[in-house]
Amino acid sequence: MENYSKIIEQIYSDVKNMDDIGTVASYIPELAFVDANNFGVHLSTIKNQQIGFGNVYKKFSIQSISKILTLTLAYKLKGEKLWDRVDVEPSGNPFNSLLQLESDQGKPRNPFINAGAIVICDILISHLKNPKEDFLNFYKEVSNSQNLKYSEKVAQSEKKTGFRNIALCNFIKSFGNIKNDVNDVLDFYFYTCSIEMSCKELSNTFLFLANDNFTTTKNTPVLTISQAKRINAIMLTCGFYDESGEFAFRVGLPGKSGVGGGIIAVHPNKYCIAVWSPKLNKKGNSFKGMLFLEKFTSKTASSIF
Ligand code: GLU
Repeated sequence: MENYSKIIEQIYSDVKNMDDIGTVASYIPELAFVDANNFGVHLSTIKNQQIGFGNVYKKFSIQSISKILTLTLAYKLKGEKLWDRVDVEPSGNPFNSLLQLESDQGKPRNPFINAGAIVICDILISHLKNPKEDFLNFYKEVSNSQNLKYSEKVAQSEKKTGFRNIALCNFIKSFGNIKNDVNDVLDFYFYTCSIEMSCKELSNTFLFLANDNFTTTKNTPVLTISQAKRINAIMLTCGFYDESGEFAFRVGLPGKSGVGGGIIAVHPNKYCIAVWSPKLNKKGNSFKGMLFLEKFTSKTASSIF
């Protein structure tokens, strides 16, 4: 069995002591209040190892990491028909860009940029009776944690300042790819981004993408093996905005980041790892989080390539 613990401890302390050239996200005002020195790492393996260092139990705003579970639920509900509404190509553009939507006629490039996640939220609203409550219940089932909440403060803060997302949603609606009221779709989208979780909860939650035998507390698989493989493929190619190529190049794992400074990465059939450090690089990914993961997959020779 790999000695992950010693390796993680060493890399954690090396990276902790390095200068952080990133900056905390402030375009959602509430996110700027976080203590930038937080740094946590948690690994969960399919052999039930649980290893954590630093701020592993502290909850933070997971932001776009929640896009994995909105996608998962929509995929469960719609199957392959989902891809009529959203594509699976990397965008090569910033996460909140409006540019490609004009030439792509309102079909977002992938479900992990804001445009794509907004369409996924629209699909969920069409299928769920009480979208916020039903989504949170699904989340609780997959994560095996009853202790999950939306942050009113973060959701309201984003609602007041989310002008680009408001523009995206209206723009997509003009092409007919949003079926519900734009205010309802945006409200749901902002709440899904506001969920707060710890590194430990994150690495346990997304273990379902690493483990073919994973079942929820209700004893059901979350997705089929083929669907889980496909979500991993989209994470590898689209999980890090316009830095997805760089992440695959330096880290070599499927993953997803959020502007709260969290990253989860998955090694199919081995582990899920979550890192949190709030300062972001220019592309919106956690500076130390990416550095930690690069060192971790190098030292353990555990990239998927
Ligand atoms: N709620 C954020 C937004 O829509 C999510 C961005 C992210 O984490 O990538 O701008």
